[in-house]
Order: sequence, then C-alpha cells, then structure tokens
Amino acid sequence: MDNPCLSCGACCGAFRVSFYWREADEESGGIVPSELTDHLEGFRLCMKGTNRSHPRCVALEGEIGRGVRCAIYDRRPSPCRNFGIFFKNGVWRAGIEELMRCNQARAAWGLLPLFPEPDRRKDLATA
Ligand code: SF4
Repeated sequence: MDNPCLSCGACCGAFRVSFYWREADEESGGIVPSELTDHLEGFRLCMKGTNRSHPRCVALEGEIGRGVRCAIYDRRPSPCRNFGIFFKNGVWRAGIEELMRCNQARAAWGLLPLFPEPDRRKDLATA
C-alpha cells in the first residue's frame, strides 16, 4: 500500500480546524501563521477556509484525492498534528475515532474508506 495520505487531503477539506489563539501568537511561542487564521468565538481561532459549509483549508495545496501538500506542514496547528496518519506499510497512527473521521472526510469527497493492514488491526483496537 502506498501512503494514501500523500494523495488524499480529505481531512483538510472536511472539518473546521479550530485551536487556542496562542498557537498563532508569536510572542507566546505560537508557530501557526496568524494571517492564515480567522477568529472564532472567545479564545479560539480556525484555519481560514475551514469555517464554512464546504470547508477547505487555505494552506492545502493540490487536488484532494490526487496529490496534496500542506503549505505550512511544520507550522500546522495542533488538530492537524493530532489527526491520524497512514504510513506506507499500512500502519494507522491514531485511534479508531480518528480513523472513522478520516473515512467520513474521504466519503465527503467520494473516496473509498481506508483500513489498516489486517495484521495491524489488533494494534488499532488497543490504541
Ligand atoms: S494546516 Fe495543513 S494539515 Fe492542517 S488543515 Fe490546513 S492544509 Fe491540512
């Protein structure tokens, strides 16, 4: 299995990506480019483009399902860092809830669901 995350990007085009404002505040050690964020209620920001009915993060480059990259990968906010990721050998690094959200996002873009390799499913159940 090739790494499906390198061509997918559906998770960056399906959910509101919100986080605590300090993640985009340089003086507090934040690393997320503030110009790519919108203010939400209270102390929360979100990535531009993700707070709408058909979200797509402004930092996502490429075509979902074909070939994508995050333009701020090293500076992406915590929800993106915490979201699951598939590795080339079929290992899913996260829990079952994240995998379900991954497949929910893929379905929204007409992409087939993904499952870990059979010999890795036991690891997922205990993750
Ligand atoms: S910051 Fe990068 S990883 Fe996060 S939603 Fe945007 S494109 Fe995706």
